[in-house]
Amino acid sequence: MSRTVAFVGLGHMGGPMAANLVRAGHRVLGHDLDAQALASAARAGVEPVASAAEAVACADVVVSMLPAGRHVLDLYDGVLAAARPGALFVDCSTIDVADARTAHARAAAAGLRSLDAPVSGGVVGAEAGTLTFMAGGGAGEFAEALPLLEAMGQKSVHCGGPGAGQAAKICNNMILGISMIAVSEAFVLGESLGLSHQALYDVASTASGQCWALSVNCPVPGPVPTSPANRDYRPGFAASLMAKDLGLAAAAARAGGVHAELGLKAADLYAAYAERVGAAEDFSGIVRTVRQSEGDRA
Ligand code: NAD
Repeated sequence: MSRTVAFVGLGHMGGPMAANLVRAGHRVLGHDLDAQALASAARAGVEPVASAAEAVACADVVVSMLPAGRHVLDLYDGVLAAARPGALFVDCSTIDVADARTAHARAAAAGLRSLDAPVSGGVVGAEAGTLTFMAGGGAGEFAEALPLLEAMGQKSVHCGGPGAGQAAKICNNMILGISMIAVSEAFVLGESLGLSHQALYDVASTASGQCWALSVNCPVPGPVPTSPANRDYRPGFAASLMAKDLGLAAAAARAGGVHAELGLKAADLYAAYAERVGAAEDFSGIVRTVRQSEGDRA
């Protein structure tokens, strides 16, 4: 069934996601503060609209893909009153779990339905329509959103009630951040012991050290030819985004009194590393920081 979708936030992720909805036959009214982002989405068939409220007023479903929680809450505050009765709000941004729950509550107070549905898969996945969606909210809302999520991704998991999608996202990325540091430290330790990268890879990738950070996004060049390490750490998944996600995980751990010692440490290490390299470098480039620290201590 073709839907009318308001899409707010047409950046690196939102632009190609909106284009995939157009390709699937939906009418997409797009809005972004950035004129270039809007123009580029328009070339893909998105109808540019001057204000978010104007787009929302015509829509069955409102999808947002914005930088952070405050952008999402500002959007909801600005447009909920303009929405059609029964409209479904689907926020795909990566935001704080508490902000996601606030967004759900504000939508409900306005008599509207909502989902949090952050993604993994990056810009490549957004362009190819192969994202994974992690959704939080009601089962009925998830079922209604599913055809749209399937037009933008290849896997969608209903994780639970409001905020559960964001919770799954930060927990997964906490595993990823910690495991990338673990793999990096293992390679640097191996170097100091005279072990070749290939030998460690051949053992660990088929033994109990196996993980995505090693076998797909290997932080040293050679063993996995497609990993960012082979192209001077061009992203991939930018260090700044990993720092953002670990910051959200650390804040949630502190708020909940959870003793996530390695998660907090990984958040600190990635914050310092991202301050230097930002979006220019893949998060696996942290291996160079580990190697550097090794050299500093020697
Ligand atoms: P981006 O900065 O490229 O896009 C955000 C867009 O939102 C920009 O075009 C900006 O102009 C627009 N915007 C900001 N405030 C707005 C407002 N009030 N109204 C309308 N438009 C507004 O960021 P991105 O890389 O597309 O990331 C978007 C979200 O997706 C973030 O929450 C990010 O953490 C998450 N995410 C990104 C990736 C990735 O690889 N880039 C992967 C997974 C999740």
